[in-house]
Amino acid sequence: MIYEAVIGLEVHAELLTQSKMFCGCRVVMSEGIPPNSVVCEICSGMPGTLPVINRQAVIYTLMTGLALNCAISEFNLFARKNYFYPDLPKGYQISQYEYPLCKNGWLEIDLASGARQRIGIRRVHLEEDTGKLIHVDGGRSLVDLNRSGVPLMEIVSEPDLRSAEEVRAYAEKLRAILRYLGVNSGDMEKGVIRFEPNISIRPAGSTELGTRTELKNLNSFRALERGTAYELTRQAKVLDGGGPVIQETRGWDEARGVTVTQRSKEYAEDYRYFPEPDLPPLVIERAWVEAIRATLPELPDAKRARFEREHGLGQADAIRLTEEKAVADYFEETVRAGQAGAKAVANWLLTDLFRLMNESGQGIESIKVRPLALAELIGLVESGAITANTGKRVLGEMFESGEDARPLVERKGLAQISDSGALEAAARKVIEANPAEVEKYLAGKETVLGWLVGQVMKETRGTANPGAVREILQRHLTARQG
Ligand code: ADP
Ligand code: MG
Ligand code: ZN
Repeated sequence: MIYEAVIGLEVHAELLTQSKMFCGCRVVMSEGIPPNSVVCEICSGMPGTLPVINRQAVIYTLMTGLALNCAISEFNLFARKNYFYPDLPKGYQISQYEYPLCKNGWLEIDLASGARQRIGIRRVHLEEDTGKLIHVDGGRSLVDLNRSGVPLMEIVSEPDLRSAEEVRAYAEKLRAILRYLGVNSGDMEKGVIRFEPNISIRPAGSTELGTRTELKNLNSFRALERGTAYELTRQAKVLDGGGPVIQETRGWDEARGVTVTQRSKEYAEDYRYFPEPDLPPLVIERAWVEAIRATLPELPDAKRARFEREHGLGQADAIRLTEEKAVADYFEETVRAGQAGAKAVANWLLTDLFRLMNESGQGIESIKVRPLALAELIGLVESGAITANTGKRVLGEMFESGEDARPLVERKGLAQISDSGALEAAARKVIEANPAEVEKYLAGKETVLGWLVGQVMKETRGTANPGAVREILQRHLTARQG
């Protein structure tokens, strides 16, 4: 049987607010902070305490909803989602159920084929994070409530995704938008953004939804893509074998590369949702929404289109340059220096600089080569002052030391030899020193020329223009032939 994949993604993102969702505790990342040290009566669930809504968390959620083309609800209610778990001291989570802040939006993803696809966004709502359970030896677990009550935004897509590749592209795009907005850091290793795909399959051509399974708490793109792909294959085998897919929550076992049953799916009625009695309805004024809309930064899609238009870049380069705002800013600052063309800057950035960054594991914010220095280097290559190969070497040294291009080139004597006298001399020297090779060339073995060019390049420590060297050598050799 041929099946079609049907996937909807739930994304949880911790918001970059100063304080927690319903109390004044600071939001902290766990490392280096003693467990249970940033906790108060409210976020530890003491009876008789009252929550207060974090205004900044609402603003961040509205920014996200607007960026995702959602309708913003005027009337909003928080709801209690009741369940017991040791990391949830109140015994309920304050969330939103019937009245999410934002709904009915969409997001466009770019696929490897170059195609674009519009994915519906069902809702974006605000809730609070739970504490963290730390499992220790002997079957014991410890709980850290520093994370309890941290503002958590949930973004739920429509079941519009049709492959593991699309799921990944959607997740990457969404993370990029959240980072552009400055509402979430995107640090997946720290668990501040977590993905839960709901996965089902159906016979190709069918319009009914199949039974879904939900993969919990994936926190890397790789795990998300591999887990989804595995689950699609597993479900196809189950259906082909005549069995039903069981609606359940499954976990991804990274080491074994398989998904495993965690628990049977709970349904909304299991949570006994009801309006949170400790909070008043939240009414969002239109004027406020428009004021927030006016503060939105240029987002990845708009920036990409502008890079294609203003800088004449191809789509693939424009997409890669705008995935991260810091990279896009670096690119534009380099171009603005006016020493190098935009296409050359894009090439150097996406190939040479990205390679150096990957090798050293550094992000663009922390590297020593600043945009003006890169612009100067590319300018030196474009003007012919140094060869492209020398340029790559120089960039490597700039990357290590932070030195500027021009002083480095001067100190090391790397300027391209444009003085034809010096080139002639080097060519003559190579010809004299290699009579056997010259003989072969003259006997008709033309590939030897390339080797001779290489020798001259060595002689000039890579500072000669290879085209010029080739010409000079050819001239000298032809003279011998005649
Ligand atoms: P919950 O997980 O709380 O039950 P929903 O029913 O709203 O929430 O669905 C959550 C996610 O599952 C959404 O992204 C939705 O698009 C997706 N989804 C719902 N039904 C299916 C299905 N049959 N196959 C794949 N995804 C589905
Ligand atoms: Mg769910
Ligand atoms: Zn608190």
